[in-house]
Amino acid sequence: MSKIILNKENYFENLRIIEKKIGSKDKISVVLKDNAYGHGLLEIANLAQSFGIKKAVVQLVEEAKIIENLFEEILIFADTNIKTYSHTFHIAINDLSDIYLLPKNTKVHLKIDTGMHRNGIQENQLKEAIIGICKQGLVLTGIFTHHRSADKLSCDFYWQNRNFARIKKNVFTICEELSLAIPKFHSANSSALFRFNNYPDDFARIGLAQYGYLENDKVFKDIKLKPVLELWADKNSSRLLKKGQRLGYSSNYEASKDMIVSNYDIGYGDGFLRFTSNKGFKSSEGYELLGNISMDNTSFQSNKEQICIFNNVKKIATLNNTLTYEILTSLKSTIKKEIK
Ligand SMILES: *Cc1c(COP(=O)(O)O)cnc(C)c1O
Repeated sequence: MSKIILNKENYFENLRIIEKKIGSKDKISVVLKDNAYGHGLLEIANLAQSFGIKKAVVQLVEEAKIIENLFEEILIFADTNIKTYSHTFHIAINDLSDIYLLPKNTKVHLKIDTGMHRNGIQENQLKEAIIGICKQGLVLTGIFTHHRSADKLSCDFYWQNRNFARIKKNVFTICEELSLAIPKFHSANSSALFRFNNYPDDFARIGLAQYGYLENDKVFKDIKLKPVLELWADKNSSRLLKKGQRLGYSSNYEASKDMIVSNYDIGYGDGFLRFTSNKGFKSSEGYELLGNISMDNTSFQSNKEQICIFNNVKKIATLNNTLTYEILTSLKSTIKKEIK
């Protein structure tokens, strides 16, 4: 059966690199949305917890419930459908209207748009939002923003940092006026954290880097993160493909010589994208993918019982003109996980 093997040592090594960069485990919040970027929500949450991480971020309340007992604080990015108060859950407010959907005493992190123009309130709505939060009986525990292009060497990063620094000052003033405790501030994702010399905020939301990647190799060439995930498949069958015979759907692979080919139990139904077909893709040990990837089957020029499809998704992302994020999050949650 196809499976994902998670390399625990690599995971811990990545967390150590992140810890060294940010200064403390307590300043890391691991982003576990989308099934921990395809790695398995509960598996990664358990590993992070055993390393000593105390904060996590997910997209939905349903995800937060699965890992509730493993963290002191869980930020929920985009789900206001919460019926009862929770000590652990903090809900992101992406729009002023969110304030009025939440039950009394809910802990909230207010998202501010500092230039990405995707989610978050505008800077000039800050006071209105904080007053609304108080009136509604919510507890303001965080203020945050998100970078639009931290993985590119442009001045956007510095511009958004200046905007957020100004917002922080305003928050201090507003909180004094309203006799509120100062909330925690956070702005960096993985790439933003590695752009800072001294990260000025209370914690960072670290997704991709914990899994062993940063999106831009040129910008981040000295950071030695190690991919955590390996995708493996088992052989279904083997055959001798004779010179001139064609293989698979649409018969667009023709053997240039006699060769042993085997079919493996992985396909686009598992999230091994069909786009990868016919682009010269090779497995991590160098076996060539032949013909079209089918729903649950893929053929390689190999006779091995088990094949490591990939242990690093950089190449496959480049081949498909997409991001490592997309390759990883395409992997279906039904793939069995093993930790080594
Ligand atoms: C997904 C996400 C992150 C994590 O980003 P990485 O680049 O994977 O570290 C952080 N903040 C927000 C708002 C996100 O949506």
